[in-house]
Amino acid sequence: MNKKDKILIIGAGLCGSLLALRLAQRGFEVEVYESRPDLRTTNISAGRSINLALSDRGLKALRLCGMEEKAREFCIPMFGRLMHDAHGKTFSSNYSGRENEFINSISRGNLNALLLDEAEKHDNVTIHFNKQCRTVDIENTVAHFKDYQTKEEFFVHADVIFGSDGAGSSLRKSYISERKFLFSYSQNYLNHGYKELEIPANKMGTHQISKEHLHIWPRGDFMLIALPNMDGSFTVTLFLSYDEGEFNFENLTSEDKITAFFEKEFPDALALIPNIKEEFINNPTGPLGTIKCSPWSYKNKTLLIGDSSHAIVPFYGQGMNASFEDVFVFDEILNQNLETWEAVFKAYQKARKHDTDAIADLAIDNFHEMKDHVANPIFKEKRKIEMDLEKIFPTQYFSKYSLVTFNENIGYNEAMNRGRAQDKALLNLIADNDISTSLEMSIEELEIVLRKVQEETNEILQEDKIAGMNERN
Ligand code: FAD
Repeated sequence: MNKKDKILIIGAGLCGSLLALRLAQRGFEVEVYESRPDLRTTNISAGRSINLALSDRGLKALRLCGMEEKAREFCIPMFGRLMHDAHGKTFSSNYSGRENEFINSISRGNLNALLLDEAEKHDNVTIHFNKQCRTVDIENTVAHFKDYQTKEEFFVHADVIFGSDGAGSSLRKSYISERKFLFSYSQNYLNHGYKELEIPANKMGTHQISKEHLHIWPRGDFMLIALPNMDGSFTVTLFLSYDEGEFNFENLTSEDKITAFFEKEFPDALALIPNIKEEFINNPTGPLGTIKCSPWSYKNKTLLIGDSSHAIVPFYGQGMNASFEDVFVFDEILNQNLETWEAVFKAYQKARKHDTDAIADLAIDNFHEMKDHVANPIFKEKRKIEMDLEKIFPTQYFSKYSLVTFNENIGYNEAMNRGRAQDKALLNLIADNDISTSLEMSIEELEIVLRKVQEETNEILQEDKIAGMNERN
């Protein structure tokens, strides 16, 4: 491993551009090849999802690269969820009882552009656009590209190749097709897809509904969500089955059916989406899936990072955050001054894989929570108790959501194990009437609840340990 090694990064999305920046800051020679045109100079959508929820793990990695403050300029804080029922009535649920804990809506395009600008400030980084990687000869570290504009095909040789080319990664496909080693791979699609719509700004250019919330219209089998943009608009995303249920993407084919669906299920949202029919028909429907694979690297030569190694469904708002955290963890491994890239890659996967597996599973859990459980009375009761515990005992109680989203110093795996045990404990205590759930509890009563939840959580964790359930793979 040597600073003179030529590093090739495939994909200049969120992970690839942050990785390029960090490796450049560390003094490596980096060349990046991106299949799409430069989003800073071409009017293209930045790809999937116009805006995203950025939270502590992502911010930690941006901080490492000196980018946190710049990114925060594009952030709109969201302090909780605002649920809309089918009659347009709303209720809110904060993300945390601690005031300083919130997530941020940020434009994918702005964030990606910021990272590309910063990476390009370094003389040791070159970024090429419109160059799509077709395959990678992993044994000889040679990538085969096609230029979208000239149609020219060419080969690039490097010492090390990183695949940060997202869920459809060309490097990962080459791992499969080259059959050079035992490569395990799984891809699981949800039966639901997603479609983006828009609530435009009002005449004054401001937001028509609260911009301090992530809006959810939970309907059991499907849901609508909306995140604010800086221009006063909201990006609305419908998550719906492709082919199941009364309404699905396959049968919502006429303007009348689309309007009838929204009138019945989301009347208040419909009133705010003036171009519903055009947008519904013209905007693409995207699939949602989870990808797990192993190993991420091949010898001293290649590494998958970001979505290419662990694409997840978007319901915990953690895909980008996890991909940014990958860069943070990779950087920590580089600090160990290991001798070879192979040693670095192996240490990186060992430190990281159990955490990315955990967030993949948590993201599926949250799919059910968001579309259904958030409207359930016991769930609401549980969240109310959790908010009170976090407010009164801010250093002693952290809900599963807080552990995952706001506790960047513990891994996703630990957050999952502790968070799940705690959820079970709290729900058991509520169901058994073991804890008072009166609306206003005194501090003394809350302290009793805290102790009971802690005791029961520890018992569950102990039982899980004995049953071998929390073993790392
Ligand atoms: P990508 O962002 O997919 O970037 C890959 C890049 O590689 C792209 O620029 C692509 O053009 C390029 N590329 C692809 N193939 C090639 C090729 N063959 N050759 C060259 N270049 C190539 N995450 C969150 O943290 N919070 C959220 O709120 C959130 N919301 C989401 C909502 C939706 C609907 C979806 C689908 C995802 C959401 N995510 C969210 C997840 C997030 O988008 C991804 O985890 C993140 O984009 C991963 O970054 P990446 O750089 O690894 O991959």
